Amino acid sequence: MERANLDYANLPFAYQKTDANIRYWFRNGTWSAGELTADEYIPLHMAATCLHYGQEVFEGLKAYERPDGRVQTFRLMENAKRIQRSARKLFMQPVPDEVFRDAVHRVVRANRRFVPPYGSGATLYIRPLLLGVSPEVGVKPSHDYLFLVLVTPVGPYYKGGLTPVRLIVEERIDRAAPGGVGDAKCGGNYAAGMRATLPVKDKGYAEVLYLDCREKKYLDESGSSNFYAMIGKTFATPASPSILPSITNLSVQQIAKDMDLTVEQRHVSVDELPTFNEAGCLGTAAVITPVESITYRGKDFVYAKDGKAGPLTSELYKRLTAIQWGEAPDPYGWTEIVPEA
Ligand SMILES: *Cc1c(COP(=O)(O)O)cnc(C)c1O
Repeated sequence: MERANLDYANLPFAYQKTDANIRYWFRNGTWSAGELTADEYIPLHMAATCLHYGQEVFEGLKAYERPDGRVQTFRLMENAKRIQRSARKLFMQPVPDEVFRDAVHRVVRANRRFVPPYGSGATLYIRPLLLGVSPEVGVKPSHDYLFLVLVTPVGPYYKGGLTPVRLIVEERIDRAAPGGVGDAKCGGNYAAGMRATLPVKDKGYAEVLYLDCREKKYLDESGSSNFYAMIGKTFATPASPSILPSITNLSVQQIAKDMDLTVEQRHVSVDELPTFNEAGCLGTAAVITPVESITYRGKDFVYAKDGKAGPLTSELYKRLTAIQWGEAPDPYGWTEIVPEA
């Protein structure tokens, strides 16, 4: 295999054209066999429900080149289940397990030369997308759907690996409401969050930390990742109906238990900010992002000094990424080799 000619050590977290994407169309009640194409554009009716009424859900996962040169995915079927849940919530046609797995395997194989080499820290980011494509002007669910999976090689989300970032508690803007769609991975939630995130980026914050929108008292999550705090040897992560259940979080909770940490998924109040000894954000893109400080009502609560992640956060990161890269045994059955054909 000849690798794509890219500067793998300095890849941005950005879209790059690869050799192929794969598309499955749901029409007249059945899914097509899946077609690989190099075309980066999709034929879409101008009245498609995804454009007007937000029938769009997506996923994000990664493929890793292992030390032995094979390629593996991480908890692929959790992503399949989640896009099915997201789809049902938005009255869309769920993608069957086998279509999801087939799509990921075929598109990764078709782009094998873009999977960054082991040791570079870069990965092949996989973005499945489900769109309602039937033309409607009345508000009703689409009959037909397009399930598309694109891939793009990406560097680490935050340059410099485990670099602590600053967060600020957002008291004014809500990302999602308890009875809403915060627990679905839909593009609309991201559009709704930009007005909170963009202004604070200029002030040196990586992200906002949303509060529950009923009482404005409990930490929810950040714009694109779950949140946790270490309180002594307890890993505490918010329980909330408006949080997107993160697969990274689920995995880190398991590893934390196996490190003999206590794991609590519960309301985490802003009053507890002074009690945290470490904090971090959890999501596929950055895996774990240590939190340097959280600003709340003008006061900075500092959790990582000298630009260094805390010991428990570092250990969680080390153990999880070793499994993802195929460097350590995977006792949980989380990884799956992408078959060669
Ligand atoms: C995707 C996403 C996450 C992270 O989920 P992972 O499965 O860990 O990648 C967290 N919060 C939101 C809002 C998300 O969309």
